[in-house]
Amino acid sequence: MNVEIINTGSELMLGRVLNTHQQWLCRRLADLGHVVTRQVAIADAAAEIQSAVREALGRADLVITTGGLGPTSDDLTRELIAELLGKKLVENAAVRAHIENFFAKRGRPRPAKTDVETFVPEGAEIFLNPTGTAPGLAMEIKSASLRKQWLVMLPGPPRELRSMFDDAVTPLLRREFAREIFVCRTLLTTGIGESRVQEFIEADLQPLVKRGLDIGYCARPGAVDVRLTAAGAEAEKIVREGEAVVQRILGANIFGFDDDEMEAVVVKLLIARKKTLALAESCTGGLIASRVTDVPGASEIFRGGVVSYANSAKEKFLGVRAETLKTFGAVSEETAREMAAGARERFGSDFALAVTGIAGPGGGTAEKPVGTVFIALASAEGVEVKKFLNVWERAIFKQVTTTQALEWLRRKISNPVSA
Ligand code: ATP
Ligand code: MG
Repeated sequence: MNVEIINTGSELMLGRVLNTHQQWLCRRLADLGHVVTRQVAIADAAAEIQSAVREALGRADLVITTGGLGPTSDDLTRELIAELLGKKLVENAAVRAHIENFFAKRGRPRPAKTDVETFVPEGAEIFLNPTGTAPGLAMEIKSASLRKQWLVMLPGPPRELRSMFDDAVTPLLRREFAREIFVCRTLLTTGIGESRVQEFIEADLQPLVKRGLDIGYCARPGAVDVRLTAAGAEAEKIVREGEAVVQRILGANIFGFDDDEMEAVVVKLLIARKKTLALAESCTGGLIASRVTDVPGASEIFRGGVVSYANSAKEKFLGVRAETLKTFGAVSEETAREMAAGARERFGSDFALAVTGIAGPGGGTAEKPVGTVFIALASAEGVEVKKFLNVWERAIFKQVTTTQALEWLRRKISNPVSA
């Protein structure tokens, strides 16, 4: 089955709005077993909309358009598609009642401009909009070929589109199209670059590729996702075997699956082990604390942290010795060690992570170039320190560094330890 998506909206072409429909719809459709084959974003212009829909209908079994169903002058989708298909627009009483009710409930008069929303292409199925006015529309395209073909039009606002897709489009797809078996499993790795990840696993996956396994790689700051997908009756088995291969080769570097986040994995492990965490952050500016506290339940394990940016803060709040700072510098193994030890002791936690480094662009030296980072991990066994070189612009630098720190802790607690 061929599925194509057409996102309309001049705001998308001007870079004013991120096209979140693309990702959201692809994800939902893949979960339903329909992998999207093509998607385009186009401006709110008559020629663009009609040619995009005409072309898509020439290829696809299902075409979904988004946006342009509203009442303003730039909302052209409904009229243009009706014209293209040679359908009259006819007033629909249910839509009219819905819109009247929508405004009555809010104590506002119905704007005359919403009249256009009550007109729908003849024969269309109508999805009343639970959170707005413009209805979604679906039309079966009767073409000369006997192939089943549907065109679905959804409104632009994400809240409206999402609820309408789940409540109305999903049942329509289940009714009209046989579900195709499609399995997708993502293994989340860290600590190895994407080309190395591929080098490590590709040869061993070849036999499965011959049986229909698809492998995808996605590099993110501090992480590489390995995506295994397959379709058809054997899909589940093929993906499971692929996962076992990747696990065998990259096991230690795999921190999670599918939608897992590193911080959530670490918090969950700490909760399971009944261990607590404290932080001492310099160059990451509290980002580890922010990531940890993004996770519901973090209060069970997170004692607190210090953002000790200045030397004076490292001394005052963490007990780093002036002597250490003077002799070795703020970015040094020794300072990281004392930061972690200080945080662990002052917060009374089982573990403490400390980070000190040079984010750049200034501040580097020949001995300690920009990107130099020391991460320390304090536990009952003492304090260990590792040195990294993270040469990235600041935002990515912080993301990568915080992932390295969390990953270290994850590995430390993955195997039960006595902290
Ligand atoms: P409305 O009745 O609000 O006019 P509409 O169906 O005409 O709805 P648009 O006018 O195209 O839809 O878009 C409405 C709003 O939805 C836009 O301002 C934009 O913020 C958001 N939007 C539209 N398309 C997308 C998209 N592809 N990704 C994310 N947001 C979008
Ligand atoms: Mg609009």
